[in-house]
Amino acid sequence: MNLIFATNNENKAKEIQHLIGNSYTIKTLKDIGCMEDIEETGKTLHENASIKSNYVVSHFKINCFADDTGLLVDGLNDAPGVYSARYAGERKNADDNMNLVLKNLLMNENRAAKFVTVISLKIDGEEFFFEGELKGKIITEKRGENGFGYDPIFVPDNYTKTLAELSIHEKNIISHRAIAFNKLRKFLSKY
Ligand code: IMP
Repeated sequence: MNLIFATNNENKAKEIQHLIGNSYTIKTLKDIGCMEDIEETGKTLHENASIKSNYVVSHFKINCFADDTGLLVDGLNDAPGVYSARYAGERKNADDNMNLVLKNLLMNENRAAKFVTVISLKIDGEEFFFEGELKGKIITEKRGENGFGYDPIFVPDNYTKTLAELSIHEKNIISHRAIAFNKLRKFLSKY
């Protein structure tokens, strides 16, 4: 069965195809000719994931899932949260975003944080949500070259390395995204 992943990121789609196995063929927005930049206007990760999956289902009449991820920092009242990609502006620059988090946390003792991934699956007219989270803390400087986004300033609980100092393989074992997508995989294998 074909299943659309509401993303333009081919690498992410390949990764997920690998995880889900062969009973479902994962296609991207480009594969179905959806060139629209679906606006993420929601106030929560659930809303944004849902906006994307519902957009595809209503315009293309095909089963679809979409994900949304955010970094929630305790000492910043859960910011940047749903605005993680553009915390420091529309340039969506990872360095700028990290610098702003570090600046806003200066003198703040509460550096606990978590990454949360929410997936909305819209299948045969019903919607299901899957979540994954990774708890940790924000350190005071950037460390490591791997990964992307906020990885260089995030140290998972029970680790001493940042996510950017872990290998991709090590990150994928514990990551918020892996946890959420494994739940999706289990659900689809029984569906
Ligand atoms: P998206 O919903 O996967 O596009 O993620 C939104 C934003 O959250 C990204 O632009 C990154 O800034 C941040 N982000 C998402 N996943 C990760 C991650 O695994 N590590 C670090 N930052 C992430």
